[in-house]
Amino acid sequence: MPECLFCKIVNGEMLAEDEDVIVIADIDPKAPLHALVIPRRHIATLNDLSAADDRLIGAMHRAAARLAREKGYADRGFRTLFNTNGEAGQTVFHLHLHVLAGRPLTWPPG
Ligand code: AMP
Ligand code: ZN
Repeated sequence: MPECLFCKIVNGEMLAEDEDVIVIADIDPKAPLHALVIPRRHIATLNDLSAADDRLIGAMHRAAARLAREKGYADRGFRTLFNTNGEAGQTVFHLHLHVLAGRPLTWPPG
């Protein structure tokens, strides 16, 4: 079942990983680059962060910027975002930072 998130991880289909996070390609990409930076530790939403998570949130953003740089989008531009709960469109309740690049990204989103 190649579309399964857990199979991707088990099979090592990751764009990057470090001690804090893994980075995978989004299964339904909304831009030429659409990746998800996912912490190894379970946190459901941004509402569930504590001060102890500050380092992790920094690591997630540095992983996003590293990916954008490696893919050649650092100077062109890229977008990072968290969706939180229903009206923002969150569908997977394990924290993840979207990284989008490769086309003009309109503002405001949605
Ligand atoms: P959100 O709607 O912000 O919770 O984002 C969830 C994201 O996970 C969506 O962009 C989905 O396309 C993506 N997604 C869901 N299942 C998978 C999967 N098995 N592999 C990769 N991305 C997935
Ligand atoms: Zn989880």
